[in-house]
Formats: sequence, structure tokens, C-alpha cells
Amino acid sequence: MAADLMTAVPDQIRSGPGHRPTPGSPGSVVGRDESAFHRATDPRVFDWLEHVRPAAGCSHPIRLAGEVATIDRTTGQLLSAARTEDMPDGEIYKPCGNRRHAVCPSCARTYQRDAYQLVRAGLAGGKGIPQSVSAHPAVFVTLTAPSFGPVHTQRTDRHARAIPCRPRRHPEPCQHGVDVRCHHTHTDDDPALGVPLCLDCYDHRAQVVWNHSAPELWRRTTIALNRHLQARARSLGIPRVEQVTGSGTVRRVAPVKLSFGKVAEMQRRGVVHYHAIIRLDGVDPLDRDAVIPPPAGFGVDDLVAAVDHAAVSVAFTTRPHPAAPQGWPITWGDPGKGVDVRPVNADGDISDGKVASYLAKYATKSTEATGHVSRRLDGEVIDLYANDQGTHPERLIDACWTVGQHRDWQRLRRWAHMLGFGGHFLTKSRRYSVTFRLLRDARVIWRRTETGHEFPDQTDDTTLIVGLLTYAGSGWRTSGDALLANTAAAMARERQQIAREEMTTAA
Ligand SMILES: [Zn+2]
Ligand SMILES: [Zn+2]
Ligand SMILES: [Zn+2]
Repeated sequence: MAADLMTAVPDQIRSGPGHRPTPGSPGSVVGRDESAFHRATDPRVFDWLEHVRPAAGCSHPIRLAGEVATIDRTTGQLLSAARTEDMPDGEIYKPCGNRRHAVCPSCARTYQRDAYQLVRAGLAGGKGIPQSVSAHPAVFVTLTAPSFGPVHTQRTDRHARAIPCRPRRHPEPCQHGVDVRCHHTHTDDDPALGVPLCLDCYDHRAQVVWNHSAPELWRRTTIALNRHLQARARSLGIPRVEQVTGSGTVRRVAPVKLSFGKVAEMQRRGVVHYHAIIRLDGVDPLDRDAVIPPPAGFGVDDLVAAVDHAAVSVAFTTRPHPAAPQGWPITWGDPGKGVDVRPVNADGDISDGKVASYLAKYATKSTEATGHVSRRLDGEVIDLYANDQGTHPERLIDACWTVGQHRDWQRLRRWAHMLGFGGHFLTKSRRYSVTFRLLRDARVIWRRTETGHEFPDQTDDTTLIVGLLTYAGSGWRTSGDALLANTAAAMARERQQIAREEMTTAA
């Protein structure tokens, strides 16, 4: 074990300060090799690495100090107690848990795995969700925003060949004198992608208001979907279900219900775009939490028809604003082209695993694609990010700030760093699948038995962990510790990866 972990210590640290990198070269952070050297040559380094292992990959762990007690749930008896004082560094390291890859790649990877499990269980069953869900009608839907002005974009012809962005034979000047043609065939990494052809023509205000209104548009869409399906049930002659509630009273409810899992993707032009799995379930008269198949007669075509209908018909107008006295109209984009809806599972050409990894990928991102990444903005720093004559993201942030000046629109300022979007990046309806909480708890219990260390916040069936822990700090104590722990985690991950690959080839 010890020899194995020693390989986690990078060469430059093991060989000590003699092999110091030249000043100014990558990795020559002041104090880094110094502190890593001390830790790496400390005979207790392996205990320390073992101690920090649950958080080793994290870029900014939370450090806690105090006592942790394990209590028998049934008898209330104290089974064990541990003081962090007696542990290496006198602290427990807990991963930061941030879902964003740009903030913490390691915790984002964990979140992405959980998101994958959660989405997949909703389509294929497992983790407490019945396997029979794989036979429910289900669709994968992409709902986009309308256009707020032409932007540089990647286009393909009907043979999926790349074609120029916005070719025109003759110049096409806009009212600002900008020729809004583009003969480039943009590559994936082209920074021009998503940028308006004329920044002054572009309706930045309408776009941030749309971002802000997207969660409400989605909510109304689910209502429209449900109504459409209830109408279908009536036309099929399927009666309502008499369901017994918790208090024993009986109520009549619709015979079908929708479950969904969805992610928001921030497109390069800075607008949100939803990818959703929508599944059709039946209703159990005796158990409102049970997940059962829909009544016979319902198929995936009914779901496709409901989505097509809702995507085109759902529309509303926001409350008025001095800049838009009639309010802003809010609809999904390109109703003429029809909505992208594809059957999954038994009926479709895309598998549950493919859809799950697609959704999980977006769950760890936020505004990165737009080139803007910041924390919540306030009056003191807003001038660094907002500029009504600046770049596309600067104008979007400015639009949030300007529209948000109005009393009724203050929430737009709160979400200026998200270009107006104040919703969650991954959401699910209650019955769709397991929860993140359940997946996290399952992992923490495993972690405790693996390392032998007690961890706070988690429970299993028989024992209860009570933490009397207080916050001791955040981040690694030194950059050397960070390097050492992160390297150990990276190598452990590599070994796991190799083991997994070997198992797959053997199978
Ligand atoms: Zn982290
Ligand atoms: Zn272009
Ligand atoms: Zn213009």
C-alpha cells in the first residue's frame, strides 16, 4: 500500500528542493515545492493521504473540526466517537461538491456520474425504480429559444455537409451600415460562433428576459402536455382513477401522469435551451408514489403529439416594463420547423445510456460556452462586466442590469451572472427517478467503510452519525498539499480506469 501511494508523489517533489522548477515556469508557485516537499518527506504522509482520500481530487475542499459520534438507531447507544483532533491535521476534509467543471473538475465528475445514474434509472429502472419503466412511452425533446438577431453559426446542408454561415451574393447592410453576410464555414472552436453579425441590431434585452422566463415557459408547457394527454384519455374512454390519499379520503385523478428529467444548456449565443426526457406513467389507485405503466391504448405517438402541440401553442407575455410597455412575448423557438422530439427506449432509435450521458454532460456546465464566467454580480463589480457598447456577453449582462433597475424586474440583476437565467441546470419531477441525495448517501456510506473514518451528514439503516463539527476553513492548507492530494486522486482514478477497461476486454 505504502509503495503504491509513493508513486502518487510527483518526481520533482520526491527529489526535493534541488529540482526546483525555474522561476516563471509552470508550477513554480511560491511555496509549492517547499510545502509539498515537507509533506512528502513526512513519515506520516501515507496516513495523511489516506485521511484526505475522500476529498483528494477536490480543488477546494471544506475542512471541518470537532467530534463525530456513531449511534445505534434502535437503542440510541453510542457505538463510537472520534475527535478530529486525533486525526492528521486535526481536521476532516470534505469535497466542495460543486457541480461545475470549471470550478472543480473532480466534484463535477462525481456530479456528472450521479446525474447519469439518475437520468438512466428513470429510463431503464434500477436504484429502486422498477425495471418496467423501460416499457413506458418516453421521448427525448429539445426545446430552443427563438432568434434575437442573426449570429455566426455552424450550418449543414441536407447531406450533413458543412456550409458557409450566412452567404449572400450582394452586400446586405443593416441600418448601422454593417454588412450582415458571412462566407466562413465556422469550425467547432471558432470564437466567432454565437456572436451577433451586428451587435447593435441584436435584441439583448429580449434575450435576457427570455432566459429569465424560461422556467415559467417550461412550467406552462408541462401543464399543456398534461391537458393534452387527459383529453386523449377521455377520447379513449379511459376513466379517472379513484385514489386513496394519505388521510384516507378518496379523490378522482387523471389516469396518466408525466414524469420528466431535464437539463438547461447555455448556448454560445448566451441563451438557454432545454433537453428533456418525458416519460408517460399510469396512476396507482392505492399508492400515489408508485411508478406503474400507463393504461393500455397509450403509446409513444400520443406523447409525440402532445409535445408537438404544446411546443407550438404555449405562449405568454411578460409583465410590462418601460422598455416594453406591452411586455415581452415568450415562446419556444422556430415553431415553423417543428420541435425536435425523438422516441427513446423500446420505441426509439436512441438508447437510455446515450440520452443519460448527453444530459449528464450538460449538467456540469453553466455559462462557459458564452465565454463569460463569473460569480454573482453586484453594484461594486458590475462595471467590470457590463457594457452596452461592449462584447456580446457584456451587452447581455448590461441588459440584465438595465432592465433589472425597475422595481418589478429586480430578479434579473440577481441573475445577471447567468445572463438572466435563474433556474436550475438539472431538474426532475418527483417520481421520475431517484434523488441526488440518495446517490450521495449511498456513496458516503461506502466511503466510510472504505477508509475507516467516520463522516458527517449521512445515515444508513442501523446507525446514525452525529457530527458536532464546525467549519475550520476551506481549500487545501498549502499549494503543496493540493498538488499531492490531487495527484494521488488522479493516479487512483487512472488505476480504476485501467481496471475497468481490463474487465470490459475480459468480458
Ligand atoms: Zn470539489
Ligand atoms: Zn459567420
Ligand atoms: Zn445593425
